[in-house]
Amino acid sequence: MFASFALALAIIAVIEPGHKVARWASAAFLLSAVAIALDVFRPVEDLALGYIAIVLHFLILIMLLQAFLSRHRLAMKPPAFIAALIGMVSLFPNAPWWPDFTVRPIIVHLVGFIIIACGLRCLWATRNNGVLDKLVILLLSVSAASYLARAALPLIFPITPDTIADGQLTQPYVVFSHMIGAITGLASGIVLIIAIGLDVLRWRGEESRTDYLTGLGNRRNLQRAIDGHASGVRQISDVIAIDLDHFKSINDRFGHAAGDALLREVGKVLRTDFAKYGDICRIGGEEFVVLVRPGKAPNPITVAQAIVASIRDIRLDELPADVVPTASVGHAAHVEGESLEATLRLADAAVYRAKDNGRDRAETIQPEDILPIDIALQSRKAAAD
Ligand code: GH3
Ligand code: MG
Ligand code: MG
Repeated sequence: MFASFALALAIIAVIEPGHKVARWASAAFLLSAVAIALDVFRPVEDLALGYIAIVLHFLILIMLLQAFLSRHRLAMKPPAFIAALIGMVSLFPNAPWWPDFTVRPIIVHLVGFIIIACGLRCLWATRNNGVLDKLVILLLSVSAASYLARAALPLIFPITPDTIADGQLTQPYVVFSHMIGAITGLASGIVLIIAIGLDVLRWRGEESRTDYLTGLGNRRNLQRAIDGHASGVRQISDVIAIDLDHFKSINDRFGHAAGDALLREVGKVLRTDFAKYGDICRIGGEEFVVLVRPGKAPNPITVAQAIVASIRDIRLDELPADVVPTASVGHAAHVEGESLEATLRLADAAVYRAKDNGRDRAETIQPEDILPIDIALQSRKAAAD
């Protein structure tokens, strides 16, 4: 069973090379299959093989937890490795400190509990409200509890030499351990395969809405926001439009690659410091918009000014030290009942105002301010006709 999980997950890992979850999970299940085979076929008295099975046990747990954590781009924390290391050293066969056979299973299961609890703590901190995250947390909580129970159980069913020697499935402790191990292993495999399938679908969707260069949303994402707003699914209180200043001259003077590096860095700054205010999209070569969600930015004009300052702070190896990138930023508050496109146009007009006023600044605009621009445009059009 574990070998077939390993195979299925390895196939996914090959088809989706970027999917670290599948790689970790596949490796964990492959090792599980090896560890189970080792456990079944090794002579009970072979201490070296028994020790290898214990080490594999710890490694498998770390890899499985790492698979779950990779879904959230997290890594296992040091306490899990320290616990595994302490377990490995203290259980080294025939070492002077080698504990009594009644204590060894307690150590194994306590270490297992610590490893799972470490992973669970990270997953709990980053959980979302999705059913899958809840299922994973439930599964790992049951698993952690079972390790704790297995560490405590020898107090109720004392471990005797028979438990170890005659072995196999006759003693309550051994039966319980094997059953729980098989059930949680099966459940983990099924949950991981479902999780990976859903992740791949979600990632494909996100990929199609993500700008490759900056990692921000692309125009398709903006269109999705516009549609969501029109249908009432997504509320937006303000729009902040950003246009890099004299970007063409950066390309012309320092090369297209330097221009790309600047776009990437602007993307990184926006994603890191401003994504908390709402969706951010790259809507043109060097043009971006922040779609501010209601309640996220009590003072959106300050946010627009902070964007100007952050872009001015960017320094890149690709650009000489005296070249300071700047941007013109425009803010417009969304007016209830208007379309989002109208607010985007207003924010764009605010960007032009910032350009006119000397660039490297933020401007805001009111709907009535745009009126003279519209009238001027219309009269110019009429004159041309
Ligand atoms: P302004 O201050 O008035 O905004 O001037 P600007 O030079 O920033 O504006 P303009 O619209 O004249 O130039 C934008 C340039 O952006 C032109 C285009 O070659 C460049 N560009 C568009 N997409 C990319 C890209 O993906 N990478 C790079 N390096 N340059 C791009
Ligand atoms: Mg532009
Ligand atoms: Mg520009």
